[in-house]
Amino acid sequence: MFDINKIRSDFPVLAREVYGKPLVYFDNGATTQKPARVIDAVREAYDSYYSNIHRGVHALSDISSGKYENAREKVRAFINAESKKEIIFTAGTTASINLVAFSFGERYIKKGDEVLITALEHHANIVPWQMMCERKGAVLKVIPINDDGSLNLEKVNELITGKTKILAVTHVSNAIGVINPVKEIIEAAHKHNIPVLVDGAQGIQHGHVDVMDLEADFYVFSGHKVYGPTGIGVLYGKRKWLEDMPPYQGGGDMVDRVSFEKTTYNELPFKFEAGTTNFVGAIGMAEALDYIGSIGMDNISKHENELKHYAKERLEQLGGLTFYGTTANTISILSFLVDNIHQYDAGMILDKMGVAIRTGSHCAQPVMSRFGIDGTIRASMCFYNTKEEIDILCEGIEKVKMMML
Ligand code: PMP
Repeated sequence: MFDINKIRSDFPVLAREVYGKPLVYFDNGATTQKPARVIDAVREAYDSYYSNIHRGVHALSDISSGKYENAREKVRAFINAESKKEIIFTAGTTASINLVAFSFGERYIKKGDEVLITALEHHANIVPWQMMCERKGAVLKVIPINDDGSLNLEKVNELITGKTKILAVTHVSNAIGVINPVKEIIEAAHKHNIPVLVDGAQGIQHGHVDVMDLEADFYVFSGHKVYGPTGIGVLYGKRKWLEDMPPYQGGGDMVDRVSFEKTTYNELPFKFEAGTTNFVGAIGMAEALDYIGSIGMDNISKHENELKHYAKERLEQLGGLTFYGTTANTISILSFLVDNIHQYDAGMILDKMGVAIRTGSHCAQPVMSRFGIDGTIRASMCFYNTKEEIDILCEGIEKVKMMML
């Protein structure tokens, strides 16, 4: 049973007011709110068994280590990875992509090689590749997007050459909500033996992700966008790549034996987890995955889809709105502009009505450039949002039009 009142009561912050009005939180693309059981799991870690992992023989260290490794197993099961060795805890999506861009680059990229990304990417899936290409003398190539925001898939085969070494693509666009056919893209790349990194920052929380079914070589996401804590994220990588790639950072835990002459490295996944990781964050994130698992990904997708259609219909009725990402295959993100009103003005008026939406380029300036704009208003909804909240957003947009036109 999908009980929206019960679900909302699981999130303490949703009960608060902003400027004396009920909070309408439509900024879930930027970060999600936390259910009480995630907050409790983090509190419990600090309250009752906090101690550094993997390093001690004492009781508390044993409990922390066990909970951390249990969190790894929960992540593995959630994305259906073959082995826990393929689950690396990082600080988040950005950290995971930087790790792969650096380490894969060191191992496999040489002068004149090519890296393929898409025009739908968040800066986090552009800049690390650009930096690596600069370092290695490699070339960054970009799959373009169509007017409806979908990827121009015909160009994929055209852009793949004998020099292409890796393809990086977002599962879902944070800026305009478009869902990419990642399975199809992976299949096309694999025909040429090209590995694929999928940026799952906006994909993992909206539907089932099965990395073995996708055959993704790398799949990355952030804890804070999946109802877990900040500062924790995941890099899933196929074992054959992770075994072969050199470590990214050096330090404690990632080593086997250290001497001044030579250091040997720890086995997976620890080879890529230098220093004290955010183990409390990992424990909190695993609790969040358990929580959304208990609601059911199908129930989540169904509710979010209903919200998206309702919001689109209601907003369209207001008139004067231009939507970006109009292809049918999208998540519950609506990205739009109202007449010729600047998005920041709209955002400020909506804020005073208790409605939290995001304005600007959403860390995806090339997407905005593609459409000849410098930003949009983005309402990103998730399973704890309601149609009543969408009605409040619509009242807000009407007010924006009244005040600004
Ligand atoms: N990729 C996408 C598609 C995103 O939406 C985001 C966050 N907005 C990121 C990468 C970066 O995630 P983080 O800031 O958690 O590292």
